[in-house]
Amino acid sequence: MAIREIVRLGHPALRTPAAPLPPARLRDAEVQALIDDMFETMRAAHGIGLAAPQLGIGWQLLVYQLEGQDPRALVNPMLEPQGGELVYDWEGCLSIPDLRGLVPRHAAVRSRALDRFGGALDYLAEGLEARVIQHEYDHLNGVVFLDRMRDFRSLGYSEELERYLAADAEPGSAVG
Ligand SMILES: [Zn+2]
Repeated sequence: MAIREIVRLGHPALRTPAAPLPPARLRDAEVQALIDDMFETMRAAHGIGLAAPQLGIGWQLLVYQLEGQDPRALVNPMLEPQGGELVYDWEGCLSIPDLRGLVPRHAAVRSRALDRFGGALDYLAEGLEARVIQHEYDHLNGVVFLDRMRDFRSLGYSEELERYLAADAEPGSAVG
C-alpha cells in the first residue's frame, strides 16, 4: 500500500464529473491496489472519507470509514435522499486544507452502489455517515462543500474556529 498525493482545489479533476468504473475492472490488481491506497491516504491525512477524483483519478469510486465501523468502498454509487429536511453541520475537505464551514445536507440517504468486489450494496445511512457519503459523492460530480454552503460567514480556518467557538460547536468532523 502507498500514500498518494491528494490534489487540491484548482486541480481540474476536482471540477470534472467522474466516469463509471467498469465493474469488470474490479478484478484488476491495479484497481484493488488503488482502493487500498485510498484508505491508507485517507487515514494518513486524518480524513474519514476520500473520493477518487481527490487523487486525480476520474472514476466514480469513494471510500469512507467512521470510528468503530468497518471501512467501506462504494463503486458507481447512487444516492436517494430520505426526507426533505436539511441539517447543518461542520465540514472540511482534504482538497481544501484547514478550512471548515457549515454545510446543509440530507439527514439520511439511501445508498446503492457496488462494493469493491462487485457485490451489490443497498442501505440507509444517517447522521455523520450520510454526511460523509454526500460529501464524497459530490466529489464524483465535480462539486465541493463550498458550493453547498448557503452562508460563507461560518467559513473559517479550523484553528481559529476551535479557539473561538464553544466546545459543543467544535468544527472537527466530516473531513473528506
Ligand atoms: Zn472533500
